[in-house]
Parts: sequence; structure tokens; C-alpha cells
Amino acid sequence: MRITFHGATRQVTGSAHLLEIGPYRVLLDCGLFDSERIDPASPNHQLSFDPRTLDAVIVSHAHNDHIGRLPCLVRAGYSGPIYATPATADITSVMLRDSARIQREDVRNAHVRHAHIEAPQPLFELLDVEWVVERLKRLRYDEPTDIVPGVTLTYLDAGHILGSAIVQLDFRENGRSRRFVFTGDLGRRSTSLLPDPTLVRNIDILVSESTYGNRELDSYDRLMKQLHVIVSRATRLQSKILIPAFSLGRTQRMIFCLQELFSVYKVRPIPIYVDSPLSNRLTEIHRDHPEAYTTHARRVMARDPLYFGSRFVEFCQSFDDSRRLNHMAGPMVIISSSGMCEAGRVRHHLRHIVSDPDNAIVIVSFQAEGTLGRQISEGVQRVQILDQWYDLSAAVYVLDGFSGHGDRNDLAWWYEQTGGKIEHGFLVHGEPEAMESLAPLLQPQLLNPVQMPELHASYEV
Ligand SMILES: [Zn+2]
Repeated sequence: MRITFHGATRQVTGSAHLLEIGPYRVLLDCGLFDSERIDPASPNHQLSFDPRTLDAVIVSHAHNDHIGRLPCLVRAGYSGPIYATPATADITSVMLRDSARIQREDVRNAHVRHAHIEAPQPLFELLDVEWVVERLKRLRYDEPTDIVPGVTLTYLDAGHILGSAIVQLDFRENGRSRRFVFTGDLGRRSTSLLPDPTLVRNIDILVSESTYGNRELDSYDRLMKQLHVIVSRATRLQSKILIPAFSLGRTQRMIFCLQELFSVYKVRPIPIYVDSPLSNRLTEIHRDHPEAYTTHARRVMARDPLYFGSRFVEFCQSFDDSRRLNHMAGPMVIISSSGMCEAGRVRHHLRHIVSDPDNAIVIVSFQAEGTLGRQISEGVQRVQILDQWYDLSAAVYVLDGFSGHGDRNDLAWWYEQTGGKIEHGFLVHGEPEAMESLAPLLQPQLLNPVQMPELHASYEV
């Protein structure tokens, strides 16, 4: 077989890997690069292969850096199946429709907000998304299915976000059986919400993510204790806690953790407001899949009538709901997006919260350089929000262990359980420093040197 890496090479976005197995061509993921969607010069607008020659597309999970360019495939003539777990299929529909809507607005307002882009145009329209939705083929975990003659796909739970999967392909080549495994994004162990990543043995070819290959994250128990301190402080000071959080995965994890804090850790409950229309829709999908969570999580959630919502959680829909929070007294928690404070309702809450030293801002997600979220997490003295300057006097806590990605210890643990003797191993989805640091932990399981491919690099394996 041949594998060509068309994204997530020495970086964490743009996941897309092309497999050629005998006469068949299979694409793993088709994600967005961290670059403007409406700029025709952006790498998002260049597909490096002809989608009409593909026989199947396999999606690992529904984060935009793994699914965000699926509509570009159908727009360029792809008409075959797109495999996804049922939860991933549900989330993909919501995420891509939202992306089409944002792009349409961005193009309309380009002369104001994106004046540097020449001839802006969207990557895709809503109609392209509907074609993707039509092509989605739902495949549950642990159900081997032939996707092209002689190639069997099995999805295994990756424990990263709802619906996330490890992709296992079994096939015969030159008279011998071979097993190809793509980790997708692997979750942390013992997070109490989602199961640990599934272990896989007898691998011949492995493509592994490496996002936190150079990081050790705080234990879940320690994170919960820190959250306990922050919530108790807000109760004492009658103040507000603002958690900027991505709509998919992080928002639901934070709701669950707070719910667990109240019911298992016996912390005095305070109201939680979730203020993001996209988060609300995605949380509904999370409620539709109670089978996805650990037994412990199901027990915690069963104490209240709603999954990811309880009598302490209120979901804001309208702008009026959102504005009402500004005039309400604490204590309360507001979870709002976007996760890096670059767009969305979170900026309006920040304006009201940021200059009061009794309030707290809790950073629970990765903050890219140059974003407002990054400035806050670094504790600058003044911040510019929606064209006005404010003193940053609120307490700032950075709790990045709530990530959906396993750290280097989690990845090393997963590699050790493979049983070794892996012929070829590739690291993707990580910055070069993370890969360099992780490679020695993977190497003992491999028969050949670890590869860290460049963009568009191709290997016969
Ligand atoms: Zn992911």
C-alpha cells in the first residue's frame, strides 16, 4: 500500500491522509487548516488530489480540523460514501452547516473585517454540506464492514470527543494479512466522562497523533480540586466565573465536571449558564448518546433528569437571555464560546466581567498566539475587547488538563499495549517539538525508524 500525507504534517490542523490499497483509493479525514476559509490563496482552497478518483472517505471524528473540508470533496465531484460513527455523523452535519453560515457572513462583511483578502469566496455553500450529509454512512464501533472489496474498516472508541474513533483497516496484500491503524485524536485516560482509548494489537502500519507529545497534563482529580477552589471562591465573593470554551466537546466536558463537582465532590451548587447557540445544539446531540459515556458518568448524570443539564444548568438561546446575565448578581458560572475569545457572545461577557477583581476567568482550552484568549491566559494588564480597552483585574486560572487529547504518558501507555513489532510508524497532528519528544516513546514498538512526514510526502509501506 501507499500512504500520502496531505495535512496535519508537523502541525495540528488539516488532517487528510490518502491510502492506496491495491487499485483502491481511500481518504482518511478531510480537515481545515488553521487559515482563512474565505481566502482563495489559503491552503484550504487547494486540494492536492482529484476527489473523483477516491473510492471511499473515512472520518475519524467531527472536529473541524478533521471534517472541515468534506464539502470541498463533493463540490469537486466526489460521489462515494463518507464513513462516520453515528454521533460523528450527527455532529458533522451541525458543524458544517455552521461553517457554511459563517463563511457566507464573512464574505458579505469582507470589506470591513477581511479587507486584506483579495476576491474573498467561501470554500463551500450550504448546498454542498447537504450533499455531504446525504453521503454519510453511519458505522458503529466494533462492527467490521467491507468498504471496498477486500478492505475491512472497524471503528474503535478513541475517547477523545463524542463519536471519536480509531480507524482500523484489515486487508490482504501479496498473500499476507495486514492491519493499518490511524489513531485519529486519542483521548486522555481516566477522565471519568468518556471511556479510555481502545487498545489495538497486531498493527503493521500505525499513523499516530502527537498533539501533546511533549506535555504532561494535570491529573483529573487535581483539576477537579482546582475547580472546587474556584467555585468556592465565587460562592464566598458572590461573583462570576467565565469559562470560554469550544462548543464541541469542551463545553459539554465542563458542564459534566461542574455537575460532578456538585454531586460527587459535594461542593455547594451555583447556577451554570451555557451561552452559545451552537453549544446548545451540540449538547442536544450529546444527550442523544448516553451509551457513549462511562458507567460512572451515566450514574452522575442520572442523578439529574437531563444529561448535560440539570436543575443547575440553563441554556441561553436569545440575545436577551444572554444580556440578562450581565445584570444578574453572582455567584454563577457562564460557559460561552468562542474558546479563544475571538468571536461570539463570550466577548460581551468578558466586557462585563474582566475588570472586577472578584470575578474569575477560567481558561480550559488551548489558546493560539495572537488571540484575545492567549493575552488573558498570559495575564496582561489591559485587553482590547470589541474596540474598547479594559483593565484585566479578574482572577485568571489556566486549567489546560481538561483537553480531549491524551498527554505523552497516555500516548506512551497506548503504544506499549500494542504488543510492538509494528513495521512502519508515522507521527502526525503535532508541532515538530512535540513529535521529536514523543518519537523515542514510540520507537521501541517499531521495526523501522519513526517517520515524521512533510506535507504531501508519500511512502510505500
Ligand atoms: Zn480532535
